[in-house]
Amino acid sequence: MRSVALLLVFIFSTPVDAQFRLPSLDINKLVDTVKNVGKAVQDIPEPEEIEIGQDVASRLLGAAPLVPNPGLQRYVNNVGRWLAAQTERPDLPWRFGVLDAPQLNAFAVPGGTIFITRGLLERMKSEAELAGVLAHEIVHVLQKHHLKAIQKGAKTALAGDALGAALKDRAGPARDKLIAFGTEMYSRGLDKSDELEADRLGVVIAARGGYDAYGLPSVIQTLHAMNAQDSGVALMFKTHPAPAERLGALDNMQATLDAYAGQPQLADRFFQNIKR
Ligand SMILES: [Zn+2]
Repeated sequence: MRSVALLLVFIFSTPVDAQFRLPSLDINKLVDTVKNVGKAVQDIPEPEEIEIGQDVASRLLGAAPLVPNPGLQRYVNNVGRWLAAQTERPDLPWRFGVLDAPQLNAFAVPGGTIFITRGLLERMKSEAELAGVLAHEIVHVLQKHHLKAIQKGAKTALAGDALGAALKDRAGPARDKLIAFGTEMYSRGLDKSDELEADRLGVVIAARGGYDAYGLPSVIQTLHAMNAQDSGVALMFKTHPAPAERLGALDNMQATLDAYAGQPQLADRFFQNIKR
């Protein structure tokens, strides 16, 4: 934890005009080493990670289709891909989609597919806020948070060595169970530590992309001001730590946030593209 803070201070001490010459920060080295203890689980190879993600994404899309607005989808993809290009996994098939749902939510699928709802987008006030949320989701992919949770759950959802079968046979019954389990996970949520890590590193990625680092905290602020009983935020609140806790956890990044607070928010560009 302390080493993370120190590294962040180091990164943020690079001059602001270097924002497009990217600091070579290895996000994987920023992860709490404690978390890697449980890493004895066999690693799922990247092609399978991408395939599992595609299967889960198509089930999620079955529940809520994309907003039929190519200009809007292109804009969100441009912002997302720009951010993803700043990371340690720039070559994943990154795709960003706006789901036609009034609720406020965003989620990441293994392998680089990220969804944000129309409801959340409509509450945002700038491209920096959009970048903050997309960067949070990008971290979930980089750190394989969902993939690891699927893998861990698969041990109980599937008997014995069925994970191997589920990976090999895309059309088999074991695979079907694995994908069903993976899809369900989006109504249960990740570990709190994964969410807080996504906030911390998401702020870094958005800043690397040249945005005001307060974009993500500002969206969490918006959520904080909403009524937890509002059905639009029910799932988001169920699957994420409370906004006050998320903001509190970002407190020790105050100095680093402030160092990059002067970068653009791009509110006008955001509204031009959202209203189109
Ligand atoms: Zn998250």
